[in-house]
Amino acid sequence: MPGISRRTLVRGGGALLGGGVLLSAAGCSGFGTPDWDVAVIGAGITGLSAARNLVDHGMSAVVLEARGRIGGQVHTDHSFTSVPVELGAGLIHGSDAYTWELVDESGADTVRVRGGSGGGSPIETDSAPLDTEDAASYLRRMDVPESDWPPVSIDNEPLDRWSATWMHRYDLFDWWSASRENHRVVDGYDRVLEPLADGLDVRLSTPVREVRRIRSGVELAAGPDGEQIFRAARCIIALPLGVLQTGDVRFDPPLPTSHLDAVRSLDTTDALKLVYEFDRPVFPEEPDALGWEQGADFVFWRISTGDADSGSPEVVAAWAAGAGARDLLAMDEDARFDAGLAALADVLGEELPAPVARTTHDWAADRYSRGAYLYVPPGAHDAPAALAEPVDGVLHFAGEPTTGENTVEGGYVNGYDVTDQLIAGL
Ligand SMILES: Cc1cc2nc3c(=O)[nH]c(=O)nc-3n(C[C@H](O)[C@H](O)[C@H](O)COP(=O)(O)OP(=O)(O)OC[C@H]3O[C@@H](n4cnc5c(N)ncnc54)[C@H](O)[C@@H]3O)c2cc1C
Repeated sequence: MPGISRRTLVRGGGALLGGGVLLSAAGCSGFGTPDWDVAVIGAGITGLSAARNLVDHGMSAVVLEARGRIGGQVHTDHSFTSVPVELGAGLIHGSDAYTWELVDESGADTVRVRGGSGGGSPIETDSAPLDTEDAASYLRRMDVPESDWPPVSIDNEPLDRWSATWMHRYDLFDWWSASRENHRVVDGYDRVLEPLADGLDVRLSTPVREVRRIRSGVELAAGPDGEQIFRAARCIIALPLGVLQTGDVRFDPPLPTSHLDAVRSLDTTDALKLVYEFDRPVFPEEPDALGWEQGADFVFWRISTGDADSGSPEVVAAWAAGAGARDLLAMDEDARFDAGLAALADVLGEELPAPVARTTHDWAADRYSRGAYLYVPPGAHDAPAALAEPVDGVLHFAGEPTTGENTVEGGYVNGYDVTDQLIAGL
């Protein structure tokens, strides 16, 4: 657990600014007078943390969310079985993640996942990568044997799609190699959103269509046909990269070239989770993850332990990322489930009963995501910082595309960081 909590820092600091401070800072008057200090686009973990911080500092904020739920890539399905199932983020990585303070505050139950993490050695290299070099070429050039490479492709794209400079700059080779504890939130990852969302003005089913700059700040056209207008002095844009790349949200005037280039140069990985419920236990007693090795087509996670005697079901998720996920996404849904089941039977070395229920979510086809989480391709190592530059002090991008991080913790911390900077700049 980190020493200083993002949440208690704000609450205990007593440094509330008082409502309306942004409006006067922006010199807003006349045409298009803003109704809010800040409008936040996207109610994922980043947008919610940003709005929480602003409101805790006494500002007014409205959060506009396209979907009929909050959480974005934190997507817990409570309807599947007796246990909540994660169709997006599933794990808290490490016992010192900032997200633990949200777990504590929400009172959510967690369990440590036995098995399934790195466990390699730190990677020694003599010199820094070239700017356009991919991570696999760099490791080859440094004579690091492939058997020592970090197992990135299990969770993400293979190393030949990653920027070596990015990974080197942020010690990601070692991060991916290091063994770490993973934890699941038993009663649903979405529980950790509760302390953030509590009391916020979140407008669900309100997709933003256009971000227009006006003299007093921004005017957002939202709703199915862009018929709802929201005016604010400033705007936090906590959208996924895939949505920014499609141009589904228009900017008037267009974004600066630096920002457009940054959006173009980053990329989103493909990831797919296929979740099965069996009417009896199928996993061995331990570990909770199987198939965790470089080059494996699937990793399998036990989500809930069944009990043969009481007849309680067992829920298992099959996980594929990068090229493996793309192969599956090219199939129809039945074929995806069949492939996952056959691979699970292979790993367990036994025939499996037909699942009594199954569910999945296609993040690539999801128009409010357009892919799973972000990665940083060769040459794009400066793109997150370029996109994080505020546009005229009014538009503030946030989340994965500005940090290059792809964790719930990363979004949580960034929501606070972006709004701390916004407030400091007043
Ligand atoms: C399958 C999968 C597994 C993952 N596993 C893990 C894990 O185990 N551990 C971990 O830490 N992280 C994991 N992640 C990554 C983590 O979930 C993300 O990095 C994090 O949740 C991103 O948060 P965000 O708020 O920045 O973006 P998002 O969660 O993508 O939020 C963006 C929000 O913007 C909304 N939006 C889109 N378009 C519009 C529009 N036009 N108008 C208004 N709103 C709009 C979206 O609906 C969404 O709510 C996983 C992600 C996926 C997809």
